[in-house]
Amino acid sequence: MNLIIFGAPGAGKGTQAEFVSKEKGIPSISTGEIFREAVAAKTPLGIKIAEIMSKGSLVSDGIVLKIVEERIKKDDCKNGFLLDGFPRTLPQAKGFDNLLLASGKKIDEVISLDVAEENIVQRLTSRRICKKCGAKFNLETLPPKIDGVCDNCGGELFQREDDMEKTIRHRLSVYYIETQPLIEYYKSKGILVTVDGNRSVSEISQDIASLL
Ligand SMILES: [Zn+2]
Repeated sequence: MNLIIFGAPGAGKGTQAEFVSKEKGIPSISTGEIFREAVAAKTPLGIKIAEIMSKGSLVSDGIVLKIVEERIKKDDCKNGFLLDGFPRTLPQAKGFDNLLLASGKKIDEVISLDVAEENIVQRLTSRRICKKCGAKFNLETLPPKIDGVCDNCGGELFQREDDMEKTIRHRLSVYYIETQPLIEYYKSKGILVTVDGNRSVSEISQDIASLL
C-alpha cells in the first residue's frame, strides 16, 4: 500500500504516521530524514544536495524526486510506503505519479489530517522547555508541577520563538497556501481521505485504520 500523509505543523502527523507504519508494516518516510541520510552517507545525490544547500539555494523538484525514487526502491518498501513531507509542490506530485506509473505503481490513498487552526495554535503555544536540561512540557497536556519550573532539574521554563503565536500563524499560513493545490489534486483523483484531527490520538488512529 502506497500512502501519503498531509497535516499542518502541530497537527500530530508524526504520531499518526508512526501508527500507520506499524499497522500496515510499511516504512514511514520523511523527506527531511532521507535528505539528511543521503548527505551524511555522501551518496552522489547527497553530495549534490549538500552543495546546493551550502549555497543557500533550494533543492530542485527533479532532485527531490530522484532522492525519493532511490529511497522507495529499497527492500523495506516492497509492501509499500508512507510518505511524510513529500510532495510539496504540484510539479513534484505530478512528477511522482509519472515515476510510479513507469514502474507499474501508484499512490493508493492520501491521508489529510485536518485540525482547526485554533486548536493547533492552542497546542503549540502551550509548549514550554527547560532552559537548563531541555525537558519538554505542555501547559495543557503535560504541565510542570510548579508553574514555570522544571520537574527534573528546577530550571526555568521558557517558550521557544517557534512556539509563539505569531510564528505559528505564519507557518500555518505558509503550509495552507503550499498544500491546498496538492489536496485539490488528490481529491480530483478520488484518493483523498480527510480525517478529523480535532480528537484524541487514539480516536484519530482508529478512524485512519478503518479508512485504509
Ligand atoms: Zn530542567
